[in-house]
Amino acid sequence: MKYLDEFRDRQKCQFLLERILANCSRKWTIMEVCGGQTHGLLKFGIEEALRDRIEMIHGPGCPVCVTSTTAIDRAIEFAFQTDTLLVCFGDMLRVPGSSISLAQAKTLGAHVMTVYSPLDAVKIALKESNKKIVFMAVGFETTVPATAVAILQAVKHQLANFFVLLSHVRVAPAMEYILQQGDCRIDGFLAAGHVCTIMGTQECTELSERYQVPIAVTGFEPLDLLVGIEQCVMLLEKRKSAVSNSYSRVVLDSGNERAKECMREVFEVSDQDWRGLGLVPRGGYRLREKYESFNADSATAIHDASCRITGLDSKAMQQKLSDRMTVVQKDAINCRSGDVLMGRIKPQACPHFGKECTPQTPCGAPMVSSEGACAAYFQYARHESDLALDPEKESKL
Ligand code: SF4
Repeated sequence: MKYLDEFRDRQKCQFLLERILANCSRKWTIMEVCGGQTHGLLKFGIEEALRDRIEMIHGPGCPVCVTSTTAIDRAIEFAFQTDTLLVCFGDMLRVPGSSISLAQAKTLGAHVMTVYSPLDAVKIALKESNKKIVFMAVGFETTVPATAVAILQAVKHQLANFFVLLSHVRVAPAMEYILQQGDCRIDGFLAAGHVCTIMGTQECTELSERYQVPIAVTGFEPLDLLVGIEQCVMLLEKRKSAVSNSYSRVVLDSGNERAKECMREVFEVSDQDWRGLGLVPRGGYRLREKYESFNADSATAIHDASCRITGLDSKAMQQKLSDRMTVVQKDAINCRSGDVLMGRIKPQACPHFGKECTPQTPCGAPMVSSEGACAAYFQYARHESDLALDPEKESKL
């Protein structure tokens, strides 16, 4: 396949790998921020090949994993309202809220539909004018512009039945939040290339200067990852805090101006609750006042307290919910997704990994999501004996 095979060239990868190992004067700890990068590192054996000289720790860059339980609970509440359709991306369906997931809610009669794009939700609102359409907007800066455009389209069509349940997150503040933890031992970062495609490299530069940490912006294919790691190691070896754009075929230092303009028009920065991390200062977005009528959380037109989960009056329904809550909550209590998302432990250090928690029977979001670290380890590294459940081997930040 053209444009992909070139970035998976075995000989070039091997050459880079050896050069990286040869240039490490000591063992370095590098966090890759994005879940897609975690999967690449494990799938292509890079994490294992580097392990003696570089410890890769896996960051919180998986949008499904960091969407708060509160946001999922709110989505479920809306989905149970009689004249409301909750519209979301497919990978949100199986993520547990505080009691049940959207998929489980759907089996109980909740109105849930999946789409590929926020603009699909706008089309549904145009077609189903007698229903209230609530789009669950999640994800990093990669998906924020699309939500902004959907809202601008809703304005254009004067839609009064389109609402957004906003849970978008910003990557740079989460990196800063991790760096501020007392037990942080990150030497350098691989920043997420797709986020920088939108945002450019300025936020990384500010972070790098403020915390004296090198950052390599890179992509997801093996050669991209290795070039990024090499750049990060080179900066570390020179004791230099700077940003290297190792993904310049995609990322411009200025980012995507048009996308940023749409984001600025519709949203402003706000604090945001991240699953596993807690409240991250300036870690998300809220709607600007002029678009507040699209906010599902505050729009009075959409609130119907009588249909909330806790208010369901059917006895059978209550029993079904309570049965499911027992199962889900039992596992969720012990899920160590917070430690996994902060890079404090590797997934195998969680006692549920590969036992009661598998991609088929996930107990937490990092095992549900196709970008989650637990799913990556289950798929590519679950048989490795040296990462067995030994608390001594838990990597602390
Ligand atoms: S293995 Fe499962 S229970 Fe453990 S942290 Fe990952 S998602 Fe949570």
